Amino acid sequence: MRIILFGPPGAGKGTQARLLESNRGLEQIATGNIIRSAMKNETPVGLEAKSYVEKGDLVPDKVVRKLAENAIADRDYDDFILDGYPRTTQQAEWLTEFEEANDAPIHACISLQVPDDVIVDRLSKRRVHKETGKTYHLDHDPPPADVDSDMVVQRDDDKPATVRNRLNVYREETEPLEDYYDRRGLLVKIDGTGSIDDVHHRINNVLDDLA
Ligand code: ADP
Ligand code: ADP
Repeated sequence: MRIILFGPPGAGKGTQARLLESNRGLEQIATGNIIRSAMKNETPVGLEAKSYVEKGDLVPDKVVRKLAENAIADRDYDDFILDGYPRTTQQAEWLTEFEEANDAPIHACISLQVPDDVIVDRLSKRRVHKETGKTYHLDHDPPPADVDSDMVVQRDDDKPATVRNRLNVYREETEPLEDYYDRRGLLVKIDGTGSIDDVHHRINNVLDDLA
């Protein structure tokens, strides 16, 4: 199964993708994670991406395209969840071409609907583990006691000024893709509020219907 998990920063894409990985054998392909790991390792892609990520801007399409397509090919074109890709019309058009060229059509674009005030709460209280990349939330999904609290930090781009820009970028460049996937008959809007488990059940129901 080939799924896009769609939604604004902080909507819960990564959290849900990880649950689907363990419960449905799908692999999360998160361009944000790939980019952060490239930045940490100071690879050429990481060095190129850094200034964009720090400002909360999108990394150039052609850079992200390669990362996403390579990750999908590594996965043998199946059983994946795209988390954070595509994010622009150009990326979506390239992905459609890629699907056709590799006979690997996307089955659904699941869009998590979350109001702005909930997003701001989720992002301001999001914490990540420096080594594993695992995401926590200070109130709703706190790190367990056996996790070293010094290793659990706030992402630089989750600080308020950058969050504002990321939300603007989302509204301008990414949200219009809902129409793109609606026209392809692939858009499924899901209520992204409520507990992590509630949202997981809603997504599971959609995937059960597709299977
Ligand atoms: P979030 O989970 O909050 O939506 P991500 O971890 O997916 O954030 O992305 C972090 C940053 O990485 C983005 O703000 C952007 O700079 C870059 N990035 C990730 N995916 C893409 C993409 N598809 N196109 C362009 N930039 C991207
Ligand atoms: P995204 O990948 O879309 O940017 P994340 O999965 O990283 O979003 O979630 C953003 C923050 O919100 C994280 O701190 C996560 O633990 C928390 N979170 C995710 N889903 C929920 C939920 N249903 N209820 C409360 N907090 C959530």
